[in-house]
Amino acid sequence: MKIVYADNNATTQTAPEVYEVMVPFLKENYFNPSSMYDSARITADAIAGSRGIIAGHLGAKDPKQILFTSGATESNNTAIQGVARANPNRRHMITTAVEHPAVLEICKDLQRNHYDVTFLSVDQDGNLDLREYVRAIRPDTLLVTIMHANNETGVIFPIEELARIAKETDPDIIFHTDATQSVGKIPIDLEGTYRHVDLLSFSGHKFHAPKGIGALFMRPGTPCRPLLIGGHQEAGRRAGTENVPFIVGLAKAMDLAMENMSDEQVRIRKLRDSLEMALEEKISYMQINGKRASRLPNTSNLSCHYIEGEAMLYQLSAHGICASSGSACTSGSLEPTHVLRAMNVPFTAIHGSIRFSFSRYNSEQDVDHIIDVFPQIVLNLRALSPYWDSKNNSPHSDPDRMVSAKS
Ligand code: PMP
Repeated sequence: MKIVYADNNATTQTAPEVYEVMVPFLKENYFNPSSMYDSARITADAIAGSRGIIAGHLGAKDPKQILFTSGATESNNTAIQGVARANPNRRHMITTAVEHPAVLEICKDLQRNHYDVTFLSVDQDGNLDLREYVRAIRPDTLLVTIMHANNETGVIFPIEELARIAKETDPDIIFHTDATQSVGKIPIDLEGTYRHVDLLSFSGHKFHAPKGIGALFMRPGTPCRPLLIGGHQEAGRRAGTENVPFIVGLAKAMDLAMENMSDEQVRIRKLRDSLEMALEEKISYMQINGKRASRLPNTSNLSCHYIEGEAMLYQLSAHGICASSGSACTSGSLEPTHVLRAMNVPFTAIHGSIRFSFSRYNSEQDVDHIIDVFPQIVLNLRALSPYWDSKNNSPHSDPDRMVSAKS
């Protein structure tokens, strides 16, 4: 059976070109980059070259501003915990209710350790309220950490503006963004419109590098203590022998992402939009979460009323289609995701939520296959739903009554 992989916000296939550049560093060029002999220079040079490539693509002035990590979780921990430890006198942070757990859980942990954290809400479209944000900034605000693009809905927050507002209000506020879902998908210029961002996290496996490698951009002068302490690697900001093959792969993946970014994103947006158009036509009582907001071109988050997302996933999987219900990280739990709850997706729809996310390896045929099988899956599941009247192809009764019956 052909696999249609439509779960690229969870992870992506490693590009063959990426794999190829990594191989020599797994085989003959295995030297520790810190060693003094000539042979080791090739690995040290490869790291320096990769750092330069990545800095260049993100518009960072100096390659030294890029710190290699094991991925966005480590980058976020380094940024948020590192800033907290370097600045113990300020104890207020601002984040949002829809962050990935790799930010949300750190913030909750700090809350348990006597930090005051404001979790900004979002509206039904997934957008932040700028007035609420401005009101949240206080004289003791140390850090703002707000994601760039949401992993579940693809909704993009105006990071350039949010960072500018923070700095104009108080230049000592440190601004971090988790850009894991946007790097490699939309342009970022850290010396241009993103110049007020101090710290930016990402993971390579969201844009066709392998899992377990990522980076943290750190603007010079940002007070931030290292998370991993030990050797002198990464100028003392992240100890541990560098993962040379993966670092080289990360730079190659970024090269590839940037090479055709505008053309690819137009093509991917067309695939996503054609899927949404066809499904809207074929499936009643379906909503597209975040549709009216500015969104990543590759992400579609749908809620089909009166059915369960997990059941849809199993049936899609039986047809070779890989998608996820809400965030892959929270799949496995039957709780509706915190992101859709924050967006006030109605009770009858929130359980029937599914995310399709595309990449450069998806084709029109992939989308056609989803369009062929998904509407029938929804019909089959609704036929089993106690809320659904298959004869009339509509819900049995007033959804509000169902909510009160359930709660
Ligand atoms: N932040 C966001 C927005 C993500 O989507 C992810 C991955 N799902 C992470 C952080 C964590 O990335 P990793 O698992 O590669 O550390």
